[in-house]
Amino acid sequence: KKYIYDFSEGSADMRTLLGGKGANLAQMWKIGLPVPPGFIITTEACHKYWEEKDFISSIWSDVEAAVARVEELAGKKFGSSQNPLLVSVRSGAPVSMPGMMDTILNLGLNDDTVAALAKSAGDERFAYDSYRRFIQMFSDVVLEVDLDKFEERLAQARENAGVKEDYKIPAEELKKLVVDYKKIVEEAGHTFPSDPWVQLRLAIDAVFRSWNTPRAITYRKINNIPAEYGTAVNIVTMVFGNLGDDCGTGVCFTRSPSNGENKLFGEYLINAQGEDVVAGIRTPVPIASLEAAMPEVYKEFHRIAKLLETHYRDAQDIEFTVERGKLYILQTRNGKRTASAAVRIAMDMLHEGLIDAETAVSRVAPEQVEQLLHPQIDPKAKRNVIVKGLPASPGAAVGRVVFDADEAAERGGKGEAVILVRPETTPDDIHGLFAAQGVLTSHGGMTSHAAVVARGLGKPCVSGAESVKIDLAGGTFTVGGVTVKKDDFLTLDGTNGDVILGKMELIEPQFDENFRELLEDADKISNLQVWANADTPEDARRARSFGAKGIGLCRTEHMFMAAERLPVMQEMVVSTTTEERVAQLKKLEVMQEEDFLGIFEAMEGLPVTVRLLDPPLHEFLPKIPELTKALEGLAPESAEAKKINATIARARELHEQNPMLGFRGCRLGMIFPEIYEMQARAIFNAACKLTKKGVRVIPDIMIPLVGTQEEMKRMRKLVDEIGAAVIKENGVALEYMVGTMIELPRAAMVADQLAEYAQFFSFGTNDLTQTTFGYSRDDAEGKFLGQYVEMGVFEENPFARLDRDGVGALMEIAVGKGRSVRPEIQLGICGEHGGNPSSIAFCNKLGLNYVSCSPFRVPVARLSAALAAL
Ligand code: ADP
Ligand code: MG
Ligand code: MG
Repeated sequence: KKYIYDFSEGSADMRTLLGGKGANLAQMWKIGLPVPPGFIITTEACHKYWEEKDFISSIWSDVEAAVARVEELAGKKFGSSQNPLLVSVRSGAPVSMPGMMDTILNLGLNDDTVAALAKSAGDERFAYDSYRRFIQMFSDVVLEVDLDKFEERLAQARENAGVKEDYKIPAEELKKLVVDYKKIVEEAGHTFPSDPWVQLRLAIDAVFRSWNTPRAITYRKINNIPAEYGTAVNIVTMVFGNLGDDCGTGVCFTRSPSNGENKLFGEYLINAQGEDVVAGIRTPVPIASLEAAMPEVYKEFHRIAKLLETHYRDAQDIEFTVERGKLYILQTRNGKRTASAAVRIAMDMLHEGLIDAETAVSRVAPEQVEQLLHPQIDPKAKRNVIVKGLPASPGAAVGRVVFDADEAAERGGKGEAVILVRPETTPDDIHGLFAAQGVLTSHGGMTSHAAVVARGLGKPCVSGAESVKIDLAGGTFTVGGVTVKKDDFLTLDGTNGDVILGKMELIEPQFDENFRELLEDADKISNLQVWANADTPEDARRARSFGAKGIGLCRTEHMFMAAERLPVMQEMVVSTTTEERVAQLKKLEVMQEEDFLGIFEAMEGLPVTVRLLDPPLHEFLPKIPELTKALEGLAPESAEAKKINATIARARELHEQNPMLGFRGCRLGMIFPEIYEMQARAIFNAACKLTKKGVRVIPDIMIPLVGTQEEMKRMRKLVDEIGAAVIKENGVALEYMVGTMIELPRAAMVADQLAEYAQFFSFGTNDLTQTTFGYSRDDAEGKFLGQYVEMGVFEENPFARLDRDGVGALMEIAVGKGRSVRPEIQLGICGEHGGNPSSIAFCNKLGLNYVSCSPFRVPVARLSAALAAL
């Protein structure tokens, strides 16, 4: 079995076997770039190393043969005291993986070879500088000796020589340093190996060993990198950037990694080796000044940079070294970049004809795109994080702490930046949420009131920061020994859940021409449309401007939560007779109609799916303790007290053990048909009025939580009867559909029966996940779901990424059964999964017509839908 490849034997497509670094070195060798000779020990060898005892011995003769071939090419000899070959030993996995072994430079040096190196270079200082670096790196990485001792001794050497920089330490001082370095190694219980072959073997061993260090394992876990990959070992002839002023080393991006500008972007150091550039000891100079310093080298580098970009058809991140005026390339890889750089580079390369539209679209990661839509904390700034909560709604918010919703509404309304901090929020706090920059709550999960409302509003929210202790009366909160007072500045990062003390600088979101064009290209590739969940005209407009092709979920309950409407709604809920209820519903109908007028108008020409009332009615009532408190001091016979008592009685009646599985969804419409009739009338009236004005309205009316054919049949009839009457009254032509959400396992299983009456299905995967697993989301996320993910029960929270095996299987059944009865049935998803890339890929596979997600996720979903289709 072949475990060793010379650079001349590999290529870029052998990444899995040779690792990313090795495959690219081989590729560059192949196309004739100045790469120092070397060879690669494969990732398969890494597996063998972990399987077989003393595996390295079994390939040792091959290593020797490979070194011999390198000696030939380099014209030097490994371990020679005349003309020694030195090498670097570098790890390299198939994907870039910090946490692996650090590179060792100058391997092969000992007391003999160093003298030879000094002689051949004509520079003693250089040789001993290389030697001391080697001992330091090798001891650190292979022998695991504490680095501090070396750094102390090095500082001593600088002091002795009276210089500030390492590269000014004279040869004599370096010689003493080397002697002392070896003593440090001995004190740590090792002997520094002087035989270059022993050095090489130990270094190779250390690279393989580093694949399973705790930090490497942790990194793999966080980034979903399979342990099967393994790492390769690259052994590369040393070239020296520290041989004088005609030498240097640097790194360079072929385009700006921060904004994508098509211009070399990099840094270098004269007379330096390897990691000096990133180590921060000396400040590197911008690549542009290389043009003046070494014009020939710069010209050559520029040529190679462009060549590599054309070759790989992507922006490159290149490492180079100049030895006595000769340029060497030591690494190239696709450069990491910010979201805005990714977009610009992709579109520029498309326009340059370097890549096609499919490739351009695939160059931007959907998750990255979210960065472009919310203000962001300056990534370069240091964060003083006092606590981490749940990342409930993305984006960054800065403002002064306020504990009261009314105060937030007042000060926010005047244009002041405030952050609302609450134990949790209720519908009563909406105005405060609306006026605040962001919200922090100590209780509640990803679907708590604060989280849902904040996401809808596009406001950053950190929820469930349980260790935050709020003293509402005192106007402070404490967490981990820090006390934050009202009016103190606070910064929230809703994208990762950071709560940061103080006022951070924010960077504005960008939705520029390039991004727009990229998303249009994405739409052309996709099979799925992207719709949005929007409850207000403002949301609808935002969704449309982000490219939504319809509204997949317009929740009507939020419309009743606004301050002036809630009392009417409460009156309706408290009503005990149908007449009373109808009287209140009449008032609500006027308001509902207005809501629909606004949304339908904003979505002119595009479908709007309106879901009839879904939550249990008691959610609209104040909590019983609050009501009891309001009774205090009232005369028991007063009208007000009577009213409160009636509300308490009704709240008790409506109380449910398990509201999620209780009297909600179409069950409300079945028992109180007047509620759904009112909503249907409001929808049809609004639609007819606009139709008369020449606005094209496409209403889809959606019945929630249907589980039986009888429910679907009756609700369809209810809507159709109202629809027929209103349309006739208005004398217009209006087309509409009536459909259902599929959010109960039974609904999926009897989807064929439902499809006889339902003209569309929309998968409500939030509830479908709850009911399939038998989890109440709010309880599960707070109590055990996090641990389940840590324990490996789930790879990811099934409320974030759709569970294909269970929930997905039900969806597949429903799709099949639905189409068997109604082949043209419209299929979509409106759960939060509709904005999750992996879940979108699954919906694409099922052949759904659209996914619907929150307006701010629309661009993410458009990209994901395209990627799913590629
Ligand atoms: P990393 O993956 O951390 O970048 P590398 O193996 O690429 O580690 O190397 C670290 C530094 O050493 C880089 O600056 C690289 O250019 C330099 N380097 C590696 N091998 C050689 C070599 N053979 N000659 C000169 N410099 C080298
Ligand atoms: Mg590197
Ligand atoms: Mg639901």
